[in-house]
Amino acid sequence: TVHQFICRTDNYGVLVHDSHTGTTLSIDAPDATAIADNLKKRGWQLTHILTTHHHADHVEGNLELKEVFGCRIIGPEAEKDRIPGISQTVKGGDVIQLAKRPLTIYACPGHTLGHVAYHFADDYLLFAADTLFAMGCGRVFEGTPEQMYHSVNQFRDLQAYTSVYCGHEYTVANARFALSVEPNNRALVARAAEVMRLRDQGKMTCPSTIADELKTNPYLRCDSPEIRRILGMEGASDVEVFAELRQRKNTFS
Ligand code: ZN
Ligand code: FE
Repeated sequence: TVHQFICRTDNYGVLVHDSHTGTTLSIDAPDATAIADNLKKRGWQLTHILTTHHHADHVEGNLELKEVFGCRIIGPEAEKDRIPGISQTVKGGDVIQLAKRPLTIYACPGHTLGHVAYHFADDYLLFAADTLFAMGCGRVFEGTPEQMYHSVNQFRDLQAYTSVYCGHEYTVANARFALSVEPNNRALVARAAEVMRLRDQGKMTCPSTIADELKTNPYLRCDSPEIRRILGMEGASDVEVFAELRQRKNTFS
């Protein structure tokens, strides 16, 4: 069971519970109070925090939650010195057992150099945090656009119906930008209208699916003739198109 809520301003809190083993995971710890309240609502005991990267809005609740629940904190080896309370490190390519299921770790350098994503392949769940957003991707702070291109595009081959959980509710802003570079993509036009309606009703727009992202996310569509025409980059490589898209998004409003 996955329980999702919004905390801070636009961070997603995500709790994952397995009733057979009693395992309860929090994907990152943006807000200890909000996470504890939501655990209580569900009657769940937190057993693990899966940290994706070191940014404050993803680790700020670590120590408080560890103190209250005695949970284990799993996070990327490359950022272990910046993740409070970390008890176990992982790196891209690792597969660990959690709740009697294989959990695959993906390296996602770009937003931060050590950013990882977590994939429960048996349950078709991807926790992509600030790497892959609905119709968007994270800002490239520490890595290169080329690294980010590979981090985002490595998910294209996951099962189409895999649920994609993101770190932030940025979907409307992402949809507006996506429309500006691919206005005639019908799937995108329809999805943009849908997410704007959801947000007007105060509802969450995530999780997404890999299938929807492949159809609507410009960062997974660097080969789209329309995007290339609008950017004036018909002869460029996919990585070059990606870099230009990400650059334009930084100043788009
Ligand atoms: Zn971040
Ligand atoms: Fe974040």
